[in-house]
Amino acid sequence: MNRDILVIGAGVLGLSSALHVKRLNPGRSVAVIDRLPGPGQGNTAKAAGIYLNLHTTRVNYLLGDSTIDWLYHLQGGLGYQIGLHQYGYLYLLDEGRYEKLKRAIPRARGLGVEVRTYEAEELGPLIPDLTMEFGDEEAEQMGLKPITGGVLGVKCGNVDPDALAQSLEAEFTKLGGEVFYGTEAEGLTIKPKMELGLPGEPYVWQDLTVTGAETSRGPIEAETTVVAAGVWAERLLAPLGFDPLMRPKNRVIFVFDDPRLRRLRLTLGFSEVGSLPFTSIPGTSVYLKGDPSEGTLWLGCADDLGRRYGLEDDPQPERGLYEDNIYHALVRYLPCFEGVRPVNSWAGQRAVNMLDRTPVVAPGPGMIYVGSASGYGITKSDALGRAVAALYMGEEEAELYGGRRLRVGDIGIDGRNVGKETFKV
Ligand SMILES: Cc1cc2nc3c(=O)[nH]c(=O)nc-3n(C[C@H](O)[C@H](O)[C@H](O)COP(=O)(O)OP(=O)(O)OC[C@H]3O[C@@H](n4cnc5c(N)ncnc54)[C@H](O)[C@@H]3O)c2cc1C
Repeated sequence: MNRDILVIGAGVLGLSSALHVKRLNPGRSVAVIDRLPGPGQGNTAKAAGIYLNLHTTRVNYLLGDSTIDWLYHLQGGLGYQIGLHQYGYLYLLDEGRYEKLKRAIPRARGLGVEVRTYEAEELGPLIPDLTMEFGDEEAEQMGLKPITGGVLGVKCGNVDPDALAQSLEAEFTKLGGEVFYGTEAEGLTIKPKMELGLPGEPYVWQDLTVTGAETSRGPIEAETTVVAAGVWAERLLAPLGFDPLMRPKNRVIFVFDDPRLRRLRLTLGFSEVGSLPFTSIPGTSVYLKGDPSEGTLWLGCADDLGRRYGLEDDPQPERGLYEDNIYHALVRYLPCFEGVRPVNSWAGQRAVNMLDRTPVVAPGPGMIYVGSASGYGITKSDALGRAVAALYMGEEEAELYGGRRLRVGDIGIDGRNVGKETFKV
């Protein structure tokens, strides 16, 4: 098989890249392959579905904010039901973190982020289930700190990652793009740009380029290969000697439908959506999400130090992670969790950029890498797809949805220029 552009991976980043490359190059043949049987079935399907623009660096803000505008266009303009609910992202904070984030707010506002702050006395009535002060020895031993304030990103909320992947696939195939599921890339094909046909090639003095991939469906030749294989990208890139600045790490989600959590889930007062915002609980690596469409409450655990790096094909939540671990602190901040157990849980892997936790779009010979999205690839997916398309077309800047521009080299590897981010990336 022979195509102009081959995209490896049908997660949000591969599909978004394929869509924008095809949109801007309608005459070129673009094929996406994925070893799984449908769109977004890798880590995209494992995601919590947070979208957010609460950032202090221009790059992260542009990636997030323009993608959010595109998501609303997909739903409102193009008619895809992708489960958008704008109910905010709330950081509940102890004194030290509250003061630190408050200092960063002018920078965020300067970029255009809508942010609200809440003092402790305002939070109390808004989240009656929340304990903000402890004053007992056990809490002190556990290192639990009183909550002294909150910071809310307003243009943040929930998207359904499965529905998003399906809508991107539909838009891509509408333009004539092809998708082949159940097709695994076994390795990238690397050849000298000028083959001599001699034994022992390639020689170290020859210029090498990626010319496609060996796949379970046979070889696919392509002028440009986009590697969008998520955490599995390292399997394809390591033999090439290409470092995507990424290491895989597990993340776990638990789902609750217990009626004792109903009042918390239906917290009003932060947005017009009758739901608790995405809420991060201080000092616990835990965040909560109300799911208005299913009436459930999700708990994500994003612990970092102490959790090992390493690629896993079928990661699972560790036994006892909720009951014997998270629960002890959670129930102190939110006593409504007393005796409540999850009805479902799963684990996935995020592709952590070890340098600055911001995604990478970078060229190699005959290829483009997109990934290293560090747990926030959904909320930046559209802008990253547009950056891939710009790179493919040899342009320095990508035009993002809504017309704003991003220098693609800023999220590359050589000449990377992201800056230091204060909020989560
Ligand atoms: C528990 C959890 C919660 C998360 N929550 C959020 C969130 O709330 N918001 C957010 O923005 N992000 C979140 N993320 C991160 C988000 O899921 C990722 O950033 C995003 O899905 C990355 O998309 P991707 O296309 O790079 O990867 P993937 O969706 O993993 O896609 C890669 C695809 O490549 C395919 N593939 C790999 N190797 C090959 C090969 N050799 N041949 C063929 N196909 C191959 C895989 O099958 C897969 O379908 C979360 C992640 C996890 C694990």
